[in-house]
Amino acid sequence: MNRHIKFGLPLLLSLMLIVIIFSLINHPTQKAIQTLQDTATPPIKKIHQRQVDTKLGDKIVKKLEKKHGDLLYEEIDSLTAPFSQKEVDILTYEIKDEQIHMIKSSKKRAHQNIIENKQKQHELWKRFANLIPSENRKMVAYFKIFTDGEDNTLGYVQQMDYPDKWTLALDYRDVKNLNGLYATILHEYGHLFSLNSFEYSHDNVCKTYDPGEGCLKQDAYLYHFYQQFWQYDVMQHWKQLKNIETDPTVQTHFYTLHADEFVTEYATSHPTEDFAESFMYFILSTKPSSHTRADEKVLFFYQYPELAQLRNEILMNLEKYYP
Ligand SMILES: [Zn+2]
Repeated sequence: MNRHIKFGLPLLLSLMLIVIIFSLINHPTQKAIQTLQDTATPPIKKIHQRQVDTKLGDKIVKKLEKKHGDLLYEEIDSLTAPFSQKEVDILTYEIKDEQIHMIKSSKKRAHQNIIENKQKQHELWKRFANLIPSENRKMVAYFKIFTDGEDNTLGYVQQMDYPDKWTLALDYRDVKNLNGLYATILHEYGHLFSLNSFEYSHDNVCKTYDPGEGCLKQDAYLYHFYQQFWQYDVMQHWKQLKNIETDPTVQTHFYTLHADEFVTEYATSHPTEDFAESFMYFILSTKPSSHTRADEKVLFFYQYPELAQLRNEILMNLEKYYP
């Protein structure tokens, strides 16, 4: 199951180019970005010193596991999965007032059944929208339905031309595997709340960590995670391995050398993926009682009362919409 963030250097370079060209022909762009950031609120408001009942979430996890089996069970692992077919974008929507509004549609006959089925399109969006409370997902400005065949990539997120606008994309052919789809949605949400514009500083010299998209703030969740689990030794070893970000065999190799340090093999591919995978485990498994490094990565999220509270809310939604 390949969950990834589609946001690499080529896109960044092309975005920079677009911004430069745009600012030449349309000077107020920079100001527009600034205004957008000023008026928007962070997706997760930090709260302090509040006791959150984490047993509530654990109870729901156990209940859901009884009905649906292991919520984190991966049917296909990336090594045995057939090579992914070419990815096809089918439908793109803008999100307005909680609803999806179509702005682009493919004409391909092969996908006619989803193109004509408005209810199914709406259902797919609702898998995400019903799970994540609306005030926590305002950065999702676009929704996309795509496919690359069954399994392979179930979903991804992509940053748009404004730094605080993102696209969420889901593969409509993978909805049969609902455990996998919900796990993927939570993995993607792990990216959305840790890589949104509020987590970055505008310092010219980065003294924290730049995961590839910019310099993280001192109090960014992802920076804390990086400091605790990646900085120094792990990072040094990781950097020596060529293609670890894309090659599952290299990830397996790294995983076997650090087996109790990662929740999945895919988590070894990048610190941001480790964060997203550990977040997915934080939501969909009971609070760990042992203290391996992998457990500590899951326990990491419990130290933030706002995230422990969000976990309860998400799990209550899951119980309601995935009976
Ligand atoms: Zn990812």
